[in-house]
Amino acid sequence: MKCTFCGNQAVYLRPYDKLSLCVQHLNEQMRKRVQKEITKNKMFGRKDRIALGISGGKDSVALLDILHKIEKNFPESEIVAITIDEGIENYRDEGLLYAKKHVSKLGLEHHIYSFEKDFGYGLDEIIRILGERGKKREFGACTYCGILRRKLLNNAAKEIDADVLVTAHNLEDEVETILLNIIRGDIQRLTRLNPKPKKIHESLVPRAKPFRSTPQAEIVMYCVINDLEYQEIQCPYSVEAYRGEVREFIFKTQEKQPMLSFNILRGQDKFLNLIEGGHTKGELKECEKCGEATAGKICKSCWLKEQLDSR
Ligand SMILES: [Zn+2]
Ligand SMILES: [Zn+2]
Repeated sequence: MKCTFCGNQAVYLRPYDKLSLCVQHLNEQMRKRVQKEITKNKMFGRKDRIALGISGGKDSVALLDILHKIEKNFPESEIVAITIDEGIENYRDEGLLYAKKHVSKLGLEHHIYSFEKDFGYGLDEIIRILGERGKKREFGACTYCGILRRKLLNNAAKEIDADVLVTAHNLEDEVETILLNIIRGDIQRLTRLNPKPKKIHESLVPRAKPFRSTPQAEIVMYCVINDLEYQEIQCPYSVEAYRGEVREFIFKTQEKQPMLSFNILRGQDKFLNLIEGGHTKGELKECEKCGEATAGKICKSCWLKEQLDSR
């Protein structure tokens, strides 16, 4: 198999457009797609302090590498790494190791926050206190983890004075979230999935996902061809996720319809255009306890804290 662009030995055949790519051209295609996503959605300003959440998994490791290459052209902007330690035994330590390794190799600032230190309870402890799923505990572990991770990432981004908070969600992650919102009938939330970073509330740092149109398979390939080590084992709690079924649907259907995820993502962007940017500021209130934006009286993280403290 020869590279469509240069005729050198190809390492990857893109299933959706049948382009075969050599190492150099796969790298170039990946970087171009991220760059286009950033430009099209005005994700960064020239002097931005960019907070990047890095877990040590393939997505964040690859995004760090690509963003660092892109940012070389913008000397006034800066990438700062944030890692959240959820407190998951036999899992988080390995990811943290890879995160530290890649960040220090590039000589970037690295801030590590932990559920235990910054919230009062680690995830293992939370699950132990709340008990077995379906009996005493209402939601899967990922729900609690997601609430706290979002909160801590935002707090961290505020503390380090970041202009924008970047996460490494890839194409299939984004499509999964879109489908889940549709399945739940949560159109409100669908309108908030906006690719353009927006200051929707004083307490929230605008967010960006430069990998939102990059397929997972290409990210894995990128790590392999660039010798980027990452954590491969799955989180022990991932078996509890409802997301799993939707995820399976996406990857299975994609085998026969390689454009599936791109089509859904494009549909979402068209939908946002139709409603002209979506979410309005007025709908968010301030949490009575911590002041962060919430739709209810108190935010989900304060709600969880109350539950845990009372047991
Ligand atoms: Zn080539
Ligand atoms: Zn709160």
